[in-house]
Amino acid sequence: MANPLRLPMVPRALRNLVSRPATRRYPYEIRPRFEGARGTIEFDVETCNYCMLCMRRCPAAAITVVREDRIWSIEHLTCIGCNVCVEVCNKNSLSMAKESKPVHTHAEVGPQGQRPGHEEWHGPDPAIAAAAKAAAAAT
Ligand code: SF4
Ligand code: SF4
Repeated sequence: MANPLRLPMVPRALRNLVSRPATRRYPYEIRPRFEGARGTIEFDVETCNYCMLCMRRCPAAAITVVREDRIWSIEHLTCIGCNVCVEVCNKNSLSMAKESKPVHTHAEVGPQGQRPGHEEWHGPDPAIAAAAKAAAAAT
């Protein structure tokens, strides 16, 4: 009978027993985000003109824009972080944060049935926004 200690995988198994782990112990040890890392899309409701370009170009169909109602929304769990929407937005309303949002679960569905990872902004009515701007300028 062959000696089990002479099997080819034994030296490697012994080496692995005493060496440092090859991977990080996530989530206990999280690698710091580096400059330029792609984390989460951020939206600026103040500058968006609801042109819908980001929605048309998003390859993952993660963005929904309803121009008439001035609604901009994103499904963070669908977004693949390609950065296309940031590059096409002429108003610089979108940016890529290097930090990722915490992982959501189905147990966290919002009280009004919002999907996990769904975020939605409602822009002010243009007439109301213009009136507020004029009032601020007059004071
Ligand atoms: S975020 Fe930019 S590209 Fe998207 S609807 Fe607003 S202005 Fe247009
Ligand atoms: S980063 Fe890419 S996938 Fe994510 S919302 Fe923008 S265009 Fe869509």
